[in-house]
Amino acid sequence: RVEFDRVSKDYGELTVLHETSLKIAPGELFALIGPSGSGKSTLLGILAGFVPPTYGAVRIDGTNIVAVPPYRRNIGMVFQNYALFPHISVAENIGFPLKMRGCGKAEIGERVKKALAMVRLEALGERRPAQLSGGQQQRVALARAAVYDPGLLLMDEPLGALDKNLREEMQDEIKRFQRAFGATVLYVTHDQQEAAFLADRLAVMRGGMLEQIGTPRQLYEMPCTHFVASFLGEAS
Ligand code: ATP
Ligand code: MG
Repeated sequence: RVEFDRVSKDYGELTVLHETSLKIAPGELFALIGPSGSGKSTLLGILAGFVPPTYGAVRIDGTNIVAVPPYRRNIGMVFQNYALFPHISVAENIGFPLKMRGCGKAEIGERVKKALAMVRLEALGERRPAQLSGGQQQRVALARAAVYDPGLLLMDEPLGALDKNLREEMQDEIKRFQRAFGATVLYVTHDQQEAAFLADRLAVMRGGMLEQIGTPRQLYEMPCTHFVASFLGEAS
C-alpha cells in the first residue's frame, strides 16, 4: 500500500506540489492526468526517490521511505524514452536489474525467460533493441521494469512516443501484464481515454493539487469542478 501524506514540493519560491495526500491500494492501477506542468512527474519522482519532497511523508506498507535511496525502494519504472542499452541483447537488457542485484546466472536466465513470455517476445531475446519495433522495445522496457517482481511499478507517459495503433495495442498489453503480476501501478498520462481505459481510479491534477480522485465513471459522471469536466471532455 502506497500513501502520500501531505506531501509538498517547492523549487525556491515556486510550490509545485501543495500538501498532496493520496492512498493507492495494493494491486490497484492508479492514473494521474492533468495539463503539462501540473506536477504529475513530480509526484511520481517523489515516490521513486529522485525528487526529495520539501514536506510530508511517503509510506509504503506503513513505513516512511523518504530517507530510503531510490535503488533500495524496490520500485520498477517505465518512461516515455525507454532507454534500452543498444549494445546488448534484449534478454541482457531485461536481465540487467537482476545482475545489478547480484543474482546468479541460472536465476537470471529463468526470470528473463518468464519476463519475455509475459510480454510475448520469447523469440526475440537474442536481438539488439534497434532490431525491434517501437512497441516491441516498449514491451522490453516493461519486462525489464517487472523482472525482479517489484510489486510497485511507476509509468510516466510510457506510450507517449508510440503511434495511435500501437498505443492501443500496448494499453491492452499493460492491462494484461498488470493483472498477471498483480502489481500496484502509478500511471501518468496526458491521454484521458487511456486513463479511463486502464485505471481502477484516477486523479485529475491541476497546479500541484489533486482536483478530484475517483473511478473513471465517477469522474466522467460527476465531475466536481468545471475544470475536471472540461479536461475530461477534451479530445487528447
Ligand atoms: P508534463 O505533462 O509536461 O510532463 P508534469 O505534470 O509532469 O508536466 P512536472 O514535471 O511535475 O509537471 O512539473 C511541475 C512544475 O514543476 C512545472 O512548473 C515545472 O516547471 C516545475 N519543475 C519541475 N522540475 C523542476 C526543477 N528541477 N526546478 C524548478 N522547477 C521545476
Ligand atoms: Mg511529466
